[in-house]
Amino acid sequence: MVLKNYSIPEILQMEACTNCTLCAEVCPAVSALQDGRLSGVYRLDTLRGMIRSQSRLFQFFSRRKPPTRTELKKFGETVYRCTLCGRCQEICPSGIKLRDIWFSLRQDLVCSGAYPEKINMIRENVALSHNVFDEDNKERVDWVDDLQNPPDHYYVKDTAEVVYFTGCVAAFFPMVQKIPIALTQLFETAKIDFTLLGEEEWCCGFPLLAAGLRNHIKDPVQHNIEAVRRKGAQKVVFACPSCYQMWKEYYPEEFEIYHVSQFLNSLIDTGQLELSRLDLKITYHDPCDLGRGSMEYDAPREVINAIPGVSLIEMEHNRDKCLCCGGGGNLEMIDTHLSRQIAETKINEVLATGADAVVTACQQCLRTILSYARRNKIKIEVLDIVELIHRSVKKD
Ligand code: SF4
Ligand code: SF4
Repeated sequence: MVLKNYSIPEILQMEACTNCTLCAEVCPAVSALQDGRLSGVYRLDTLRGMIRSQSRLFQFFSRRKPPTRTELKKFGETVYRCTLCGRCQEICPSGIKLRDIWFSLRQDLVCSGAYPEKINMIRENVALSHNVFDEDNKERVDWVDDLQNPPDHYYVKDTAEVVYFTGCVAAFFPMVQKIPIALTQLFETAKIDFTLLGEEEWCCGFPLLAAGLRNHIKDPVQHNIEAVRRKGAQKVVFACPSCYQMWKEYYPEEFEIYHVSQFLNSLIDTGQLELSRLDLKITYHDPCDLGRGSMEYDAPREVINAIPGVSLIEMEHNRDKCLCCGGGGNLEMIDTHLSRQIAETKINEVLATGADAVVTACQQCLRTILSYARRNKIKIEVLDIVELIHRSVKKD
């Protein structure tokens, strides 16, 4: 273990755990597999033991040796089976910033060589292709082909007031490309001077952070900041909460940044987007990185409630208690089965509301929930908030 991967407050906080086990009770991974080794309390206790075992004095008195490579590897497997949903952090009565510690712990495991091999793929893909899926980055705007009469510039203009940062998932996954397509049309309707970055948009760096590769985020951060500067833009809009949170926390404060729910809310307020009636019963899923991660619970609800005829039915767990969809923390890549088990619990809660549609505000949540619903032939509409507004907006 490499102690320098943790901040001093993190090391101090590790000692504040009272073993109350509340973090285990709310953990979606623990509930899905009934496996206590996936809980925050187990993880923290093991980590503390491993760190202490490196002290000679501790070894002398306790006769405990530092973990072997096999023990570390086994521990690493439990650490990465976590969606980084942050529910444990939210409930911890001792105020331990557990999610932050999980990021540092993953970094520690990478430095110690005890991490799932698939993590190497994320590092290589982002370094070589500048996106997490190893696609040709020139194809980032290929979805523009699906618009009727796209402009010659394909929305990659030399300069603009607003940059729309699409994120890797929306740019490359056909299932969710309806988000950028709808948002582009909404921007046109609202007469927003916007541009895409095209192949100059690189992965925001969040998948690296979540993988334990914090040391590798410098290049994408620097590159993306310069790409936005070159456009002369003042504002950057994100439909992906992970990109938004990444920019909020790890990028220099140089531009006004907005999650799309906030931006759409202001366009509705100013009358730049006029909404028409939709008779629909909706439930809203708070994406972990937008809700618990960025504390934005109100903007999406205000947008939904602005549509005449729509009724919003809250799920049993909502806002800071919202259940994860199973798609975060690179879990889908590490343990697809667990990711689907978590999605099943989410869908069951959605169905219990009796809503016609579940709306979210994240391309990854949309992909996870929609994939589960399709695979299991569940009859519920799954929409992103951008699509919902696109459906309601009065066209010229
Ligand atoms: S972040 Fe979520 S999945 Fe991970 S340990 Fe905490 S509650 Fe469990
Ligand atoms: S909720 Fe906090 S104090 Fe309670 S067991 Fe988990 S980490 Fe420890």
